[in-house]
Amino acid sequence: MVDWRADPPSPSSTLRITRFHIARPQRKATCLNAAARSADKPHYSKADSMKIKDLLKKKRTISCEFFPPREADGIPNVMRAVQRVSAFNPDYVSVTYGAGGSTRAFTEEITTRVKQEADLEVMAHLTCVGQTSEEIHHVLERLDEAGIENVIALRGDPPRGETDFVPVEGGFQHATDLIEHIREHFTFGIAGACYPEGHVESVNMDSDLDYVKQKVDLGADFLVTQLFYDNRHFYDFMERAEKAGIDVPIVPGVLPILSAAQIRRFTSLCGATIPEDLDQRLDQFYDDDNAARDLGIEYATQQVQDLWDNGVPGVHFYVLNRSYAVSRILKNLALDGHTGDPSNTLGGPAR
Ligand SMILES: Cc1cc2nc3c(=O)[nH]c(=O)nc-3n(C[C@H](O)[C@H](O)[C@H](O)COP(=O)(O)OP(=O)(O)OC[C@H]3O[C@@H](n4cnc5c(N)ncnc54)[C@H](O)[C@@H]3O)c2cc1C
Repeated sequence: MVDWRADPPSPSSTLRITRFHIARPQRKATCLNAAARSADKPHYSKADSMKIKDLLKKKRTISCEFFPPREADGIPNVMRAVQRVSAFNPDYVSVTYGAGGSTRAFTEEITTRVKQEADLEVMAHLTCVGQTSEEIHHVLERLDEAGIENVIALRGDPPRGETDFVPVEGGFQHATDLIEHIREHFTFGIAGACYPEGHVESVNMDSDLDYVKQKVDLGADFLVTQLFYDNRHFYDFMERAEKAGIDVPIVPGVLPILSAAQIRRFTSLCGATIPEDLDQRLDQFYDDDNAARDLGIEYATQQVQDLWDNGVPGVHFYVLNRSYAVSRILKNLALDGHTGDPSNTLGGPAR
């Protein structure tokens, strides 16, 4: 399930980034010292797995998101993609929750296998779509029994072709309901989604932010953003969130562009915008996916460097089960042996 969201490069003219001052020492990704970049295994191993909210207190995180296959025979491919990415020592990976059917069971299976076999912390995605609260409760019980400690609680999108989200009878209407339920009945670490450019259905940016604040008040420990291509949107959102009293870490979600057509489709579905100069460059590569992907790597490298320099608490990559672009970006940023820089914890307001 990736079509609500959707990697590339270069000249600073391409990247319209407005610096947002965060009162903390500026550290470049390249400042990570050699020890911190060693290819050793991360010191957070399966044996001492922990909640992501606690990881975020200790270090800046790199995370990677995967999606379940449509058919069971696709699971080994996903596990191989996770394995390739694990070479870069991400702090955790997450597995999205499908719109329905068997892919949901695959989310549970992959999440559990990653936790048990890949020596990686994991976050399960869970949505309110097509299930009663009781059914969702059972999913949470199974995740708990499997030792999963982190969940991102989402509402989910309306089924394809429908514009309004209608819960099933006895189901949850909003992510806030799901977060409240999880906090009341379980001990999972909880993440919620937020939208630097506003959610597509939101009445306005202010009410959208009010609901994000509600998620935090009800128990979300941190937030992960929808994709965006102009860091200015993220920095503006951070400013508004801080004013609204949102005091949990907000982790930017980054999708390296893989093809021009794909990114235009994703952004139109999720309401994110493509900066004009990037859009014009994509025009040149409309029928050349390899060139678009290289542009994506160049662009995302700059985007993430800027975010990192500006003190973000972590970066969440929408990997789309393809490790090549993310591996190139992390190499470009000297983060390909990422173990985090424990001395680089964030001061000031938690972000
Ligand atoms: C990091 C991330 C991960 C995602 N993972 C998945 C996934 O695994 N599977 C999947 O299907 N989709 C996923 N999505 C997409 C997500 O399900 C859609 O964006 C969905 O349309 C909204 O989900 P939400 O949790 O933000 O919903 P909500 O927070 O419920 O918001 C939906 C809309 O309702 C409004 N709203 C929120 N709360 C209230 C309230 N209490 N009262 C009235 N209005 C309210 C908001 O302003 C918004 O317009 C993900 C999105 C992100 C950013």
